[in-house]
Amino acid sequence: MKVLVLNCGSSSLKYQLFDMTDESVLAKGLVERIGIDGARIKHVKTDRDPVVTDVPIPNHKKAIQLVLDRLLDPSCGVISSLDELAAAGHRVVHGGDRFATSVRIDSQVLKGIEEVVPLAPLHNPANLTGIKAMVEVLPQLPQVAVFDTAFHQTMPPRAFVYGIPYHYYSENRIRRYGFHGTSHYFVAYRAAEMLGRPVESLKIVTCHLGNGSSITAVDGGRSVDTTLGFGTVPGVLMGTRCGDVDPLVVLSVMEAEGMDTKAMSHVLHKESGVFGISGVSSDLRDVEEAAAKGNERAQLALDMLVYHIRKYIGAYAAAMGGLDAIVFTAGIGENGVDIRDAVCRDLEFLGARFAPEKNKVRGKEQIISADDSRVAIMVIPTNEELVIARDTVKLVLTR
Ligand code: ADP
Repeated sequence: MKVLVLNCGSSSLKYQLFDMTDESVLAKGLVERIGIDGARIKHVKTDRDPVVTDVPIPNHKKAIQLVLDRLLDPSCGVISSLDELAAAGHRVVHGGDRFATSVRIDSQVLKGIEEVVPLAPLHNPANLTGIKAMVEVLPQLPQVAVFDTAFHQTMPPRAFVYGIPYHYYSENRIRRYGFHGTSHYFVAYRAAEMLGRPVESLKIVTCHLGNGSSITAVDGGRSVDTTLGFGTVPGVLMGTRCGDVDPLVVLSVMEAEGMDTKAMSHVLHKESGVFGISGVSSDLRDVEEAAAKGNERAQLALDMLVYHIRKYIGAYAAAMGGLDAIVFTAGIGENGVDIRDAVCRDLEFLGARFAPEKNKVRGKEQIISADDSRVAIMVIPTNEELVIARDTVKLVLTR
């Protein structure tokens, strides 16, 4: 059974074709600059060199046609007929409080995703465009939507309602939603597998640390709290996003600088975080390099990031009333040896005994706590595409 996984942005489209008989990736690629000059498709058949083609790509429909052409191409393709495709799975950023699980796409689901557009005005329209383009190109192909927010729908109201007048929640749906849910779900369940224990018996803090970052408390396999919220700026310091900030700071800056909401939003999303503090870069590697050369603001950005992560690990252990595992994933979580080292030292009071000698690992599964540590500390590469492919198979087979 072959499943095409799609992640559509406003001008880009990432794809992976899975053979679900063994969950292998047959091919993957990226279409960039859709609707803009300089469009290109980069297609990689597994274990082969990438094939890059510069070609005008006016819209998502054309992008999807090109992807299918590449998949069928006798030289770099992996299927001989489109009939081999069993289904397509789409990443959808926001499911609001309407979608708590993945769903098979029909007209009602499309309407539901559209209703959530005000909550994710940049992302959901792009996801919808991709879904509709796929329907146009292959109308008979079953399609599934997998939401970034769905895993967090198990949070209790005490974790997702904000302390502002209740009607903003009940009437305007202003609440914590959380993001990166597919990733937190994947690594929490994988951690249980690696530990050989049922996920229902575990209290896990999952740290998804990339350009965008979030930390989640996963109790018994269910998300019970997470650091991202109504939007994607709170929690820990990110590449260019601010992390937790007193809301009065925002009002004060807007007033002092005469800024409108759009300008302030740009500051919070694009000019803050590791970039805003260090003044060097949003990329952790550049900031680590600058700090090593004595740049004090770069060092401050690193210190803040480490501090925020430790603070949430402690907070979520207390919130869950215990801790069995801490998991690191995404770009920084999987590769940031020094950040993990700084976060994990002196966590013995929580029962987590770090083993620095096991921590020299990048991008692969490894337990980095001592053998006798009560709490496991783990590095687990995330695989959101695989979750999408698995959910797609499940939903298509059960119809
Ligand atoms: P996104 O949120 O865009 O998917 P990623 O998960 O790819 O982001 O993470 C990007 C971050 O990972 C960047 O800050 C990058 O510097 C960091 N990163 C990647 N490799 C390393 C490394 N070897 N050491 C430290 N940080 C790394």
